[in-house]
Amino acid sequence: MIYLDYQATTPLAPEARDAMLRWLDGPDGTGFGNPHSPHRMGRQAAAAIELARDRVAALFPAGGKVIFTGSATEALNLAIRGSGKAGSVAVSAIEHAAVLDTAEALGQARVLDVAQDGLCGAAQDLPKDCRLVAVMQVNNEIGTIQPTVDWHRKAKEANALFLVDAVQAYGKIEVTHADMIAISAHKFHGPKGVGALWVRDGVDLTEQQTGGSQEGVRSGTLSPALIAGMGAAAKEAKERMAQDAEHVEELWNRARDLFSDWTLNGSEDARWHGNLNIRRDGLDVARLMSDCRDIMFSAGSACASGSGRPSHVLKAIGLSDKQAKASIRLGFGRYTKIEDIEQAAKSINAAAKEQGL
Ligand code: PLP
Repeated sequence: MIYLDYQATTPLAPEARDAMLRWLDGPDGTGFGNPHSPHRMGRQAAAAIELARDRVAALFPAGGKVIFTGSATEALNLAIRGSGKAGSVAVSAIEHAAVLDTAEALGQARVLDVAQDGLCGAAQDLPKDCRLVAVMQVNNEIGTIQPTVDWHRKAKEANALFLVDAVQAYGKIEVTHADMIAISAHKFHGPKGVGALWVRDGVDLTEQQTGGSQEGVRSGTLSPALIAGMGAAAKEAKERMAQDAEHVEELWNRARDLFSDWTLNGSEDARWHGNLNIRRDGLDVARLMSDCRDIMFSAGSACASGSGRPSHVLKAIGLSDKQAKASIRLGFGRYTKIEDIEQAAKSINAAAKEQGL
């Protein structure tokens, strides 16, 4: 099997796995303590969480705090719901459902336009009552890198907070300008089921579920194993950022050559190059996926695929339903080999040829 679905999730780093084991039971059976207990086992687990917090924080701007959550979806909900009640929430048209649907559920969504190249330019007006702007750093479907520095300035001028969904960016490119940043461990070689919200000092949130207030505005017992895994993954990502990016660039160049008959969806340059979202007019993607069962890749996005609905991101950048449904997404990164790309291209191009393309 060849795994080319790095936007859906990433392989667990061995360093993250090793860091987790100690807090599942540990060699002497003392790793399972409740990190909120005051006794020795509890304090040891709490110390592991604080080490992970420092490691995760090392990739965020200075002057803020990290709140651990169960996912990026939870972090984004906390940011959007917990940062105010009155006013509108301006969101780019290509946000993840965790942002779009949350702003819509509150009845506060004002959707910002996205151009054909997949960029949400900051030269557009914010609503007068805007309380929060949410523009993601790297898009999960087409990989485009948004001008968050400009949006941060614009939000500030409008007296609004600025939220960045950095799920696809964290550990790959630096996120420097925001009031709140949401991330998810399993997108950077950590475990599933743990995320975080970074909150700039001075930004007040209200809790969205009541309980023990273990993380202040977030209640619930923390998982030392998951958080230790996330911390180790963050450390690896920081140390290997340049090396990982170089490797991705090599994979991208090879993939672009091998898929030269395909049309790229979204900007070539303002893009994370571990995301190749491409289309062929007339392609039957379901048939292609069935013919290439040994290759793990995605039709559009993991969320939209299977639903039968064309992706809202591809629609937002001006693709017709037909073009959107003729698109595939290949995602690669740290553990992908050049041969994986070559083998996948061979199979995918042969399957497309079978369809007369
Ligand atoms: N935001 C983006 C851009 C994503 O790609 C995802 C996951 O697909 C999420 C948010 C949600 O993350 P989680 O799986 O941690 O809820």
